[in-house]
Amino acid sequence: MPFVRVALEVPVAALYDYAVDSAAGLLGCRVAVSFGPRTLVGVVVEADVVPAVDLARIKPARVLADVPALPVAWLELLRFCAGYYQHPLGNAIGAALPAGLKAHKALAPALWQRFSWHGLLPVFTKRDHARAAMAARLAAGPCFGFELVSQSPKALAYLEAWQAAGLVQCAGTAPLEVGASPAVNQEQSDAVAAVATALDPARFLASLLHGVTGSGKTEVYLQLTARALALGGQALVLVPEINLTPRLLEHFRQRFPASVIVSMHSALSESERTHHWLLAHTGVADIVLGTRLAVLASLPRLRLIVVDEEHDPSFKQQEGMRYSARDLAVYRAKNEGIPIVLGSATPSLETFAHAQSGRYERLVMKSRAVTDAVLPEVHIIDLNTARAEHGIAAPIWDAIKSRVDAGEQSLVFLNRRGYAPVLSCASCGWVSACTRCTAYLVLHRRRGLLTGGTLMCHHCGFAEAVPLSCPTCGNVDIRGYGQGTQRLEVHLAEACPSARVLRIDRDSTSRKGAAEALFDLVHAGEADILVGTQMLAKGHDFKNLTLVAAVNVDAALFSADFRASERLYAQLTQVAGRAGRAGKPGLVLIQTRKPDHPLFRAVVAGDYDGFALSLLAEREAAGLPPAAFQAMLRVEAKKLEAGLSFLKQAAKADVAADGIMIYDPVPMVLTRLMNVERAQLMVESPSRPALQAFLARWLAWIGANAPASLRWHIEVDPLEI
Ligand code: ADP
Ligand code: ZN
Ligand code: ZN
Repeated sequence: MPFVRVALEVPVAALYDYAVDSAAGLLGCRVAVSFGPRTLVGVVVEADVVPAVDLARIKPARVLADVPALPVAWLELLRFCAGYYQHPLGNAIGAALPAGLKAHKALAPALWQRFSWHGLLPVFTKRDHARAAMAARLAAGPCFGFELVSQSPKALAYLEAWQAAGLVQCAGTAPLEVGASPAVNQEQSDAVAAVATALDPARFLASLLHGVTGSGKTEVYLQLTARALALGGQALVLVPEINLTPRLLEHFRQRFPASVIVSMHSALSESERTHHWLLAHTGVADIVLGTRLAVLASLPRLRLIVVDEEHDPSFKQQEGMRYSARDLAVYRAKNEGIPIVLGSATPSLETFAHAQSGRYERLVMKSRAVTDAVLPEVHIIDLNTARAEHGIAAPIWDAIKSRVDAGEQSLVFLNRRGYAPVLSCASCGWVSACTRCTAYLVLHRRRGLLTGGTLMCHHCGFAEAVPLSCPTCGNVDIRGYGQGTQRLEVHLAEACPSARVLRIDRDSTSRKGAAEALFDLVHAGEADILVGTQMLAKGHDFKNLTLVAAVNVDAALFSADFRASERLYAQLTQVAGRAGRAGKPGLVLIQTRKPDHPLFRAVVAGDYDGFALSLLAEREAAGLPPAAFQAMLRVEAKKLEAGLSFLKQAAKADVAADGIMIYDPVPMVLTRLMNVERAQLMVESPSRPALQAFLARWLAWIGANAPASLRWHIEVDPLEI
């Protein structure tokens, strides 16, 4: 009897053997198996194996043949991901698959087929509105089975009956249609041509598309996608933020009206995610556009990968399997022998270093694409000498007011949400602290109200009403100190009574669809002043925005994290890049108490290369990434001492470690989170293979020696220190 090895999403990191009638063609198939008292769905990762356990204990597997097997290249991606990020293969596959493919209910092929109505629509009775709606939808144009399922649970049965009666037919694939594109400029066409050399003969080529903000990188992606589709391929486009997907989807839909384009991000419902995944996996979808999790989609015809804003830390998954979608995308392109484009105005130092060493090809776009649009002028305002009101320097107030008068938009960037970062009593020194975390409770006001509101912990979600008086001394004069976006919004509205002020941050966009609605208002010109966090800084193409002001950026200059200045440079350049994109000159004002800091000088000069080279030299001298590779062991414990003492043991674990530097265990910056104490231990090596080999041995030691009362995980290539 043949046997297969199956990856299951279970806590114990192992692969499990099951018996099948025939192992032929089972690699990558889903199988339903019994595991203890449960039935689980797993994926065959090795077909025809010699079982590792006693034959008598081996149970049969039921093959699920509803969906094509997962491609070999996909299995290799997941195997690499599991190995590199030190995660069990079964759990890696579990994280990649949508819920629908992990359920042991067979999926109907009609879900990912497209149908259309042929002939006249019958007259349905009033009570038959579900069928009437379905038929109308089918008559309006081809639509997928899964789109109908959301209209009626019996949709598939109706479809089948209509098909049998000849009323509905499967719609074939539409030929590629490419909508009108602008005449590309020389820089754009050079970039397209360079990547295209690797499209036709399909070979691996990693390119850094280093294009200033507004240089028209999207158009390069669109042109390359057109070529990939013309070659019969699929394109995968990754963006860092969900909020960037609607507009980009719109661009792609306009350019490729007949192609099947699906989105993949965490705001989709489970069933939407399953259906979009199925379209990608069955090769029906031509373009997949999504956030980091989309890198794990199965794409049998994949021909091109684009990672937009590749420097963005959001590409790193921060829980469960802590993978970098950008790095996996590069592996994937290499493994499948296809080109990948990493686009950014401010590349990560890792990517920049690869471009310097020649591993990545560097494609430069130095000017803005729109005729007459130039990069904004950047001025630094010295807060030590400038007059300030409500924490905002006078020149910024003046600039905002003159924009309002001119009917142009301004953006004020403040990366701190809420009304005030802390509430405090001046008489006894009480401060609002979270009882569960090492963090302050942030004061949030209700819209338009200057009293009351909520104290909220931004880390654990704890919330309580603002007390009427100091909880320790009874003093009624308790105040919020410092300024968040809510408070700034109030001040801006007071100072510019005729202006429409719009706040965009996580609080104002928490409802589904709220972010899209707010960004639509901005694009429609129905806002004069935008105030918000880094959500505003990324990627958006605002046409009428001519002023950007960055306030309160200094904290990053003093951060203990060695990546803080790289991040601040990127953030400032990105937010500055929202100004002056459509021909009207843009102005950027940055207020600081450290006006002579080299970082600001580089931002003013727009000298990314100079800044990146100096950072790179610093990192090399200090032996830090990208000159070295790091991993972090983190523990969570009831008592900090218990966590730290285990980390001390782990640091001394007897697992031969040549060329591995082990740091001292330290409490995390946010030490207590939800009443759990957290500590970490960093390991580092100039050699990636040495680090990988060490981690595998270390992981085994930790697994065998960690007390059951501790939770722990390893993060490879951590971005936050
Ligand atoms: P980036 O992503 O590089 O910051 P975008 O792709 O958002 O820039 O493009 C910026 C603006 O330039 C957009 O409004 C886009 O429509 C416009 N654009 C792009 N290419 C061209 C071109 N060849 N001619 C004119 N306008 C262009
Ligand atoms: Zn008090
Ligand atoms: Zn908390």
